Amino acid sequence: MTEHTPGISGLISDEPIIFEVGSPGRKAYSLPSCDVPDVEIETLLPPGEIRDTIDGLPELTELDVVRHFTRLSQWNFSIDTNFYPLGSCTMKYNPKINETMARLPGFAQHHPMTPDADSQGSLQLLFELQECLKTISGMDHVSLQPAAGAQGEFAGMLMIKAYHDAKGNPRKKVLLPDSAHGTNPASATLCGYKSVQLPSNAEGLIDVAKLEAAMDEDTAAIMLTNPNTLGMFEKDILKITDIVHKKGGLVYCDGANLNAVMGITKMGDMGIDVLHINLHKTFSTPHGGGGPGAGPVCIKDILEPYLPAPVVEKSGSKYRLNADRPQSVGRLKSFNGNFGMLLRAYAYIRTLGPEGIKQVAQSAVLNANYIRAKLKDTFHLPFNGPSLHECVFNDKGQGITTMDFAKALIDHGFHPPTVYFPLIVKGALMIEPTETESKETLDGFIAAMQSIAKKGQEDAESFHSSPNLAKVTRPDEAQAARNPKLRWPGHAR
Ligand SMILES: *Cc1c(COP(=O)(O)O)cnc(C)c1O
Repeated sequence: MTEHTPGISGLISDEPIIFEVGSPGRKAYSLPSCDVPDVEIETLLPPGEIRDTIDGLPELTELDVVRHFTRLSQWNFSIDTNFYPLGSCTMKYNPKINETMARLPGFAQHHPMTPDADSQGSLQLLFELQECLKTISGMDHVSLQPAAGAQGEFAGMLMIKAYHDAKGNPRKKVLLPDSAHGTNPASATLCGYKSVQLPSNAEGLIDVAKLEAAMDEDTAAIMLTNPNTLGMFEKDILKITDIVHKKGGLVYCDGANLNAVMGITKMGDMGIDVLHINLHKTFSTPHGGGGPGAGPVCIKDILEPYLPAPVVEKSGSKYRLNADRPQSVGRLKSFNGNFGMLLRAYAYIRTLGPEGIKQVAQSAVLNANYIRAKLKDTFHLPFNGPSLHECVFNDKGQGITTMDFAKALIDHGFHPPTVYFPLIVKGALMIEPTETESKETLDGFIAAMQSIAKKGQEDAESFHSSPNLAKVTRPDEAQAARNPKLRWPGHAR
């Protein structure tokens, strides 16, 4: 333990579940007395629509309910409370101005069925966000519909398939480096492709010779990530895209790591044909806890006919949604995608401007390299090339395992980094600080990592029960995932 543990670790209170508290007859609401005659429910609704009485619903006062949920909310770990260095996820701070903008009544209360003529402000915002993302990515067109990075991948692969289909041969395979995020092969598979794994070279990059050998005219595309999931820039990217294009294939780039390079270089200049962007990572919209995301997909001109419909267009000074696109892969999401997320990303981009966007990338890279430099004498770096926005250590030579480190960090008030990913690093500890963290926060994290490593060498045993200060310490994770208890026995469902 560091001497001073900030925030959540001091919160040792206990909270029963809501079904265990309350008392019959208590109510959290009051209604005015009825001023119309009573009517039997059976005369209003068909029998199938009438629910049986529910036994065992909690009965509490308004204050009981408020306290219960407020206390639970205080157990939440969030970027607004502590450092959250979850690698690959870019858990950056969401500036509050974005929230203020999202709550402007003209946006927040705008009904998605409103005709285009009365939605000009919202459509203009979507159009301008598309333009911003085109500039940042160097791509030609953008669809804002996908609700997550994974759905952006799916949309991109559908377009690649439509492109090959139109040429008369959909092809069969997709190449993927062995460091790829799991959603990449999943998206390729959903589109009917067979995933072919490309082994990384000793530097942790795509092996160009192996790619050259694997690429053939049955291969529809390569799905790569740049910078890759080891936080390294694919320095041979121009050769890679050239090899794929020469055999008639297309290049998909997973843009989840755009935070490392935006404002500095453009994927569109590297031979990328399709790119998805995670607005909930790079552009600060909140994520975690299953909240809504946004994974716009950006493409080059050759794929334009297949773009998901509708597309936001501008003609003269008017904006409109164009759904008349016969070759489109179709609609991916109701209305205009997760509009609230798009709005926050737009506010973020416009607040920073081009210089600010570039500084974000520079500071993200600086912060990751600071952690790397400070921890490289204590932790093994399986791939020791220059890193960008994240760095990947492992537990080689430590007295305790990666899982022990993750759990022990919780006692120090830090969220664990990403563990055991990417899969090509045994016992990986993948740390992504993001640009929004101060030197003091990084120093605190570094000190915690060093102190855990030291104690782990001396007394490994003592870590087997950590975290000791958390509400839940070491649950049986396999049971929790496969056999979750979602209902309180004998109570309402
Ligand atoms: C987060 C991430 C994804 C998936 O994005 P979601 O928005 O979670 O669907 C894909 N690839 C990489 C490298 C990622 O970090």
